[in-house]
Amino acid sequence: MFTDSHCHLTYLNLEHYDDACDGLIAAMKQAQVSRAMAIMCQFDEFDDIAAWTSRSDDTLNIGMSVGLHPCQPAEVLASVTEEDLLSRVHDKVWAFGETGLDYHWDDGKKAAQKHSFATHIHASQQAKKPIIVHTRSAYHDTLDLLMAERCEHGIIHCFTEDYAFAKRALDLGLYISFSGIVSFNKSQALRDVAAKLPLDRILIETDSPYLAPVPKRGKQNEPTFVPHVAAALAKVFGKSAEEIGQITSDNFDRLLAGK
Ligand SMILES: [Zn+2]
Repeated sequence: MFTDSHCHLTYLNLEHYDDACDGLIAAMKQAQVSRAMAIMCQFDEFDDIAAWTSRSDDTLNIGMSVGLHPCQPAEVLASVTEEDLLSRVHDKVWAFGETGLDYHWDDGKKAAQKHSFATHIHASQQAKKPIIVHTRSAYHDTLDLLMAERCEHGIIHCFTEDYAFAKRALDLGLYISFSGIVSFNKSQALRDVAAKLPLDRILIETDSPYLAPVPKRGKQNEPTFVPHVAAALAKVFGKSAEEIGQITSDNFDRLLAGK
């Protein structure tokens, strides 16, 4: 059993599944992926992602997030309200995000990103649902804002920072999610960080369609590949991929339950 804590289902090219979501859903079940959280980056994706969640059944549970990615236009980020987020919650909405700070592509909209990030945190606290944090080239500002807003319920997604960052996030109560990056040859430093983390606080994700794990590098990433992320962490922890799949699924249960 595997839980893909972060995937962008609406960005997938489904040509090899005859352009039908049925094909991907069958392949996910085949790969023992029993749960996936489909992530929203902008509000006009809401209906298409909600349609994916409506395909959930006894063997595959698909939930979603509601939120605005920090790379959205500054005017969109600057004007988002808690109500924009809370009014979109329904019973398949598991989290808010992905939000956070990203100064890599554009550091000219820090204030707008910070406003949006804080607004997502407030909505998360009000709805008692976790937040999904994206951080890139914004190490200190991300930690400062998480601390200032007492953000204690959520995920640092696609984690690539150092142990000091992970420790501060864990101390707040957040979970650390690893993507296919942890499987890359060049990622020994990241695996060394992972090895120091408590097993009951880690999650796995594909971030598909990006960042396909070894041995699928260069291909479009899919939720069906999340067992490969588990396999990379399995080597780090001396466990089997199945054990990592079970542990990270149990962790995701606790995350959703707010524990
Ligand atoms: Zn993402």
